[in-house]
This record gives sequence, C-alpha cells and structure tokens, in this order.
Amino acid sequence: MPKRGFGWTGVQVPVLGQGTWMLEGKRGTERAAVDALKTGLDLGMTHIDTAEMYGNGRVEEIVAEVIEGRRDEVFLVSKVLPSNASYQGTIDACKRSISRLRSRWLDLYLLHWPSSYPIAETMRAMERLVDDGLIRFIGVSNFDLEELQEAERVLSKHRLACNQVLYHLGNRGIERRLLPYCTRQGIALVGYSPFGHVGFPSSQSKGGQVLADVAARYGRTPRQAALNFLTRLPNTFSIPKARRIEHVRENSGGVGWDLTSADISELERAFPLPGDDAPLGII
Ligand code: NAP
Repeated sequence: MPKRGFGWTGVQVPVLGQGTWMLEGKRGTERAAVDALKTGLDLGMTHIDTAEMYGNGRVEEIVAEVIEGRRDEVFLVSKVLPSNASYQGTIDACKRSISRLRSRWLDLYLLHWPSSYPIAETMRAMERLVDDGLIRFIGVSNFDLEELQEAERVLSKHRLACNQVLYHLGNRGIERRLLPYCTRQGIALVGYSPFGHVGFPSSQSKGGQVLADVAARYGRTPRQAALNFLTRLPNTFSIPKARRIEHVRENSGGVGWDLTSADISELERAFPLPGDDAPLGII
C-alpha cells in the first residue's frame, strides 16, 4: 500500500485507510467486521477512521479489538461530536474515546462537523490535548473554506493537520477551492464516503459505464478505478468502509497503479464538477 506525507506533518500515511461507520451489529456481524479490518491492516490500510458517534461508542470498542497488539502500526483517528465540543467536553470526550479504543493516544482528533460552541474554545481544548500527549495532531471535518480558515486563525500553538470531507465521483465540489487551499496550507485532505455511502454508480448508468470501461483497460474493477481517481491528486487520502473481507481486498487494489491523463479526463467529463456556488456536501 503506497503512503504519502500527511500534509505538513510529513507523517507517512497510507493513501487508502479504513472507515468504520455502521460497523456495529450482532455479534457475528461484528466478528466479521473485526476480521475484515484486520485484513485491511495486513494489506497496509493502517489509517483507521472512527468517531465517538459511531454506534454511540460501540465502534471504538470494536476498533480496539482490531488494533490490539498492533497499535504502533496504526494511524488512529477519532472525532468529537459537536454537541460535546466545549473546552472541557472535548477533553472528556477524547479521554473516553481513548479508553474505549484501549489506546494511550490518538494520532489525529477531529471536530466531526462545525459546532455551536465557539471554534476558538474547541481548538483551545485540542491544543491542550496535544500538549498533554493525548493526541498527536488536530483536525476538523466537514469544514468549508471560510470555517477552515477560522479554525486555523484561532489556533495559537499548533497547526491544523487535516480536513475530512465528502469526496466521491458524484460529489467533486472540493476540487474547486477547498482542496487547492488545503494543499497550499499543508492540510491533509481525507475524502470520506468514496463510494457515495450508498448508490455507487451502476454500470447501467452513463457514468458507471464510462467508469467500467476505464477500469477494464487496467484489468481493475470500477471501485478500484474510483479509488484511484479520488486519490490522483497530491495531498489526498481516502477511507472506504468495508465489513467484508473480499471488499477490503478489492479496495486495497485501488492504488499502486496510475490512470493515464486521458482516462482521468474521461472520468472528469463523465462525473463533472458542480457549479461554483455549490455548498460543501455532507452526509
Ligand atoms: P463508503 O465507504 O462510500 O461505502 C461503504 C459501502 O460500500 C458499504 O456498504 C460497503 O459494504 C460497500 N463496499 C465497500 N467496498 C466495496 C466493494 N469493494 N464492493 C462492493 N461494495 C463495497 O461509505 P461510508 O461508510 O459512508 O464512508 C467511509 C468512511 O468515511 C466511514 O465509514 C467513516 O469512517 C467516514 N465518514 C466520515 C464522515 C464525517 O462526517 N466525517 C461521514 C461519512 C463517513 P460492506 O460494508 O458490506 O463491505
């Protein structure tokens, strides 16, 4: 699995990580999910994205099983809910997440989406968490350009390392302003829901047919071609979620090879950018 520098931090992080939203369920389902995520680790997909929101903390407990004995291999990310994002609330939420994950630290901690608490208050708590060694890096999620700039402005001791945002073939809006800005600032851009969460383009649709044709030229699947396209630009990372081992294996083959510029252009035409004023997409 190829890695690239995670924004200004320079930490080498795999281009493809693993999402964990909606992994909780019956015991057998959870066991299968643990095996799938462990397979992902074996394949080098060692960036694991979770959140206190997922299954009300249950998913962090599942992730603890996945990373047991392998903590040092993993770039571990969790998120604070906006409703917990007061100064003390952020610190307490982070400690709860770390405890559920049976870790001593998080590599990256994100504010899940903009909160009604002042961003300066949340970022002050984030800086305290870095100083106390509980998190290595500070990030945000679902922040559009102006919100991101505000978060950068209110940080006084540490820099913002990441913005995690919706990015899939049907929603490329971040390519207009947000992604170029993040790249200039050395803020890693992690794209979530690379398959659109649900509704991956079917081969019956016009775009889906183009995607299948392009993928076939490389002996790849449409999902692999989609992941390759979504990480074609520097400073981008993607975190597909899969609870089935065969899906994880397929997804890991989404990188390590390059689409030609002609094929990239064909995909850009088949899945066009939205208009200038489209708001940041969010799921
Ligand atoms: P996604 O990764 O776009 O799609 C997940 C769906 O695709 C699952 O149903 C999965 O099935 C299926 N799938 C995965 N690989 C497949 C394959 N090779 N072939 C066929 N189907 C496949 O959706 P997502 O979970 O919304 O997004 C990914 C991660 O991003 C989340 O899990 C979460 O960690 C993060 N996220 C963050 C935010 C945020 O606000 N920051 C919002 C949304 C998501 P199986 O599970 O059955 O394998």
